[in-house]
Amino acid sequence: MDKNEKTAYILDASAFIGGFEPKSSLNFTIPEITDEVKDMKSKLILEEAINENKLTIKEPSQISNEKIDNVISNSGDNLRLSGADKKLLSLALDLSNEMIVKIITDDYSIQNVAKILNIIYESILTEGIKGVYNWAKTCNGCRKEYEDSYPHDDCEICGSKIFKKRIKR
Ligand SMILES: [Zn+2]
Repeated sequence: MDKNEKTAYILDASAFIGGFEPKSSLNFTIPEITDEVKDMKSKLILEEAINENKLTIKEPSQISNEKIDNVISNSGDNLRLSGADKKLLSLALDLSNEMIVKIITDDYSIQNVAKILNIIYESILTEGIKGVYNWAKTCNGCRKEYEDSYPHDDCEICGSKIFKKRIKR
């Protein structure tokens, strides 16, 4: 099959916590995900995806695990990545031999390693994904909304803390 015809989504816990709802059948994750997703709503999305055969849970190959270990010890990401994070990257590497893969994660270290591996990634919080939730940075005091690129934790007007508010698109 033509590699360009299929895009597989590799989902980490933040994808489910962020509200990603798998639409097609080409969604993959690792067994550890079930321990990492703890809140009720995310758990339901996860279970539903498994029941509807939209999510495949897969162990990565040993070869990819070793390759990832090498890459992250060179990039300095090894200390910031959990065992599950590494396996997720290994799985992405495995599947990238067969199809286009896109990692859905909010973890900057995972994104960094994906970049090194030339694997596409998308952040659910910063960019938003079709059919799911978006986030707006909002001041807790004066309610001013900020662009996602606003670099500070405090409001420039009133100095209150800025939080991320979840908004349905
Ligand atoms: Zn404010």
